[in-house]
Amino acid sequence: MDFSPSLPDEITIDTWHTHPASCLSHHGQACCHNARNWLISQDYSLDTVGGIDSQLLSAPRWIPERYEWGPSPWPLYWCDAIGMKKLDCGALAAIAREVYLARGVEAAPVQLIQRLSSHAIGQLRKIWRDGPGYFNWLAEDKIYHEAVAVSLDGTRIQIWDATNGWWIGPTQTEGYGAVLQVKVGPFQPDSQQTLHWGDRELTPGSWTRICT
Ligand SMILES: [Zn+2]
Repeated sequence: MDFSPSLPDEITIDTWHTHPASCLSHHGQACCHNARNWLISQDYSLDTVGGIDSQLLSAPRWIPERYEWGPSPWPLYWCDAIGMKKLDCGALAAIAREVYLARGVEAAPVQLIQRLSSHAIGQLRKIWRDGPGYFNWLAEDKIYHEAVAVSLDGTRIQIWDATNGWWIGPTQTEGYGAVLQVKVGPFQPDSQQTLHWGDRELTPGSWTRICT
């Protein structure tokens, strides 16, 4: 995708709305198999998961501690991703998703549109590489972001941001950082079961407006 700062916001956001959540690619061989297993073993050794429910959902904070946030080339394979110093929010969310799935909890991709100041976005444009394979995630005063939804019962969800290492709450106040729109899951293909994010109800696989 061409990186074009002058592109109108509506067009950029249209591309976000049709953009699939990031997913790591697999060579179907030992290289990626071993890389994925290594990452999951990191979760067992670094975030003690004892099998009780609260621990199953505990944040795998080792992910943002291990990887700096930065541009990733797509498609991105497991065996390449694990050795990288920097990963983008989509790659970090995809890794977190696999880690949660390996723990046996429901996990699904989350796509977000968040408010950010034009000034901050101007700064990000300077450091973010553009060109083929790099996704344009910056609009005038909004950014595209990815996270992971986790659930024990498949309906009540929590959203973890593997880039910033924090939970994104369902209560959002207008201003910088506010979640404007969100799209979650579904946990299982074609599931239409309503998801509960705090008091909010979300239709899986659909963009929902949160703030204006
Ligand atoms: Zn591979």
